[in-house]
Amino acid sequence: MKDNLALIEAGGTKFVVGIGGFDRQIRFRTRIETTFPEETISRVTDWLLGHGPIAATGIACFGPLDLDPDSPTWGYITRTTKQHWSMTDVAGAFGKALGCPVALDTDVNGAALAEWRWGAGQGAQSSLYLTVGTGIGGGAVVGGRLLGGLSHPEMGHLRLPRHPADHDFGGICPFHGDCLEGLASGPAITARWGASLSELAPDHEGHEIIAWYLARAISTFQAVLEPSRIILGGGVLETPGLLDRVRREAIAASGGYFVGDPGEIVVSPKLQNDAGLLGALALIEQNLPGVRGDHGTSGG
Ligand code: ZN
Repeated sequence: MKDNLALIEAGGTKFVVGIGGFDRQIRFRTRIETTFPEETISRVTDWLLGHGPIAATGIACFGPLDLDPDSPTWGYITRTTKQHWSMTDVAGAFGKALGCPVALDTDVNGAALAEWRWGAGQGAQSSLYLTVGTGIGGGAVVGGRLLGGLSHPEMGHLRLPRHPADHDFGGICPFHGDCLEGLASGPAITARWGASLSELAPDHEGHEIIAWYLARAISTFQAVLEPSRIILGGGVLETPGLLDRVRREAIAASGGYFVGDPGEIVVSPKLQNDAGLLGALALIEQNLPGVRGDHGTSGG
């Protein structure tokens, strides 16, 4: 039997779904619109089952999620702002429909793990991944394991000092107003200046302000973890020149104190189109090691 793995990147607007194996080849893939939970999940499972029995499922899912193995609601999407999806038993629904074990974590943690395993974090003892797009999220891998506590990290909700020229904007986070996500995510940029960062003139103050916040986030990550790699991804980081600006600001913000030099440790992600599905694969590898072992002894 081939190692038929179901790989799912569950997003708020679409599910990217693939059939792949431990060789990292994605053999089939599709996209399914995110509507109501039951409808979306049954469309995804129908498509997957059309490719034969599934050995294991990896889901890199939008959050927040309940990831406490002792919780009766492990594997649920919890208090999401995505309509209809709060308290959806994602892991349970897929496990039941597909008849296989399920590895679930956030999309951000999946990407953090995949970047460490195969991408820009390869070989790093500690690797932190931050995505800056419609939201801001981060995950960290230390000694080969994803960091977590009561739940997955919520690095996008750091509280930072305000840039001296940015005191009039209240921020857009519905929970905190001016947390990192409330100040530096794509929608926060648009709310402030009416355009994305790459649409603003290169000498617009927005570039400096956003780099300043991201640099302070980096200093905070360094203070907590001293990661040997910090991977900055997401749509906002596609702004020309922003990564270099963040590096320069982070060097200034660190005061030369930390061991890691932001000029060297702050890098771009390496996994491009398949990052989400590879995240789901990395979650299977990490959380369901027996699947690979079972496969090896099942005769191939
Ligand atoms: Zn917040």
